[in-house]
Amino acid sequence: MKVKFWGVRGSIATPGKLTTGYGGNTACTEVYLDDGNLVILDAGTGIRNLGNKLADANNRIKAYILITHPHWDHIQGFPFFKPAFVEGNEITIVGPEVRGVSLAKLIAEQMNKVYFPVKLSELQARINFIPLKEDSIKVFDARLDSIFVNHPGFTLGYRISFNNKTLAYISDNEPYSRENAQLFTNGEPDVLRLFENYKGDPNNRIIDFIRGADVLIHDSTYTPEQYSDHIGWGHSHYLYTLRVAAEAGVKKLCLFHYDPVLDDDALDEVVKKCRKEMKKLKYSFELCAAKEGEGFRF
Ligand SMILES: [Zn+2]
Repeated sequence: MKVKFWGVRGSIATPGKLTTGYGGNTACTEVYLDDGNLVILDAGTGIRNLGNKLADANNRIKAYILITHPHWDHIQGFPFFKPAFVEGNEITIVGPEVRGVSLAKLIAEQMNKVYFPVKLSELQARINFIPLKEDSIKVFDARLDSIFVNHPGFTLGYRISFNNKTLAYISDNEPYSRENAQLFTNGEPDVLRLFENYKGDPNNRIIDFIRGADVLIHDSTYTPEQYSDHIGWGHSHYLYTLRVAAEAGVKKLCLFHYDPVLDDDALDEVVKKCRKEMKKLKYSFELCAAKEGEGFRF
């Protein structure tokens, strides 16, 4: 697989001089399977630049977009994704549904005339929708597994397996504490129940899902200091992210979904602290901090 990051920021796009190193666009990652097929992870503002690149190449496009959940930082770029405006292209959007609201409606609503001049139904490309819960489906010739993670609403994590290689993508996820779960009201009872009913440490639900992946892209929104003021917001601090990668036995971890207040200097510091922690705890996976425009092959 070939991975390239087009947006690595959480919550809201954060352009400006202080974020040029890691990038200011919100969640979007391009993944090419070994057979050349394209799978896109989330449609945050980063998908606009990816769409421009694809449109410039002028090829017919058949792609899947895996949406983790319909918060703005994961869908807001879709109305600016050029290939969706081109007849002959085919885009299949995969994602969760919110109680009583279809996936098609979740995507269409942000293009409601009040918010955007072009309606979803007016796009020239063929747009398909595949709503998922905790499922296993085929995406091209790859296997795609999904799991509900600990983030407000119905939010999915994904695992893509192809040609004996596995990529896990957990964009938004918070450490699960049985104690804290009682204090917050923004969780979906159906999702919380899955964690509550998991035997032993409920965090192992996600860790078991990720286990043995070659690459893990995981929420690393906060520093541990920031996290203490954001418990219940649905995100991880980097020490937890390192723990997940180590316990799941992944080969490579990519920190992802940075808080908008963390500028380049702050993120360099995060990486330094992560390396120190990894040395202390003898973690042996490879560490990568996702940067817009950068990628790798595995
Ligand atoms: Zn997010």
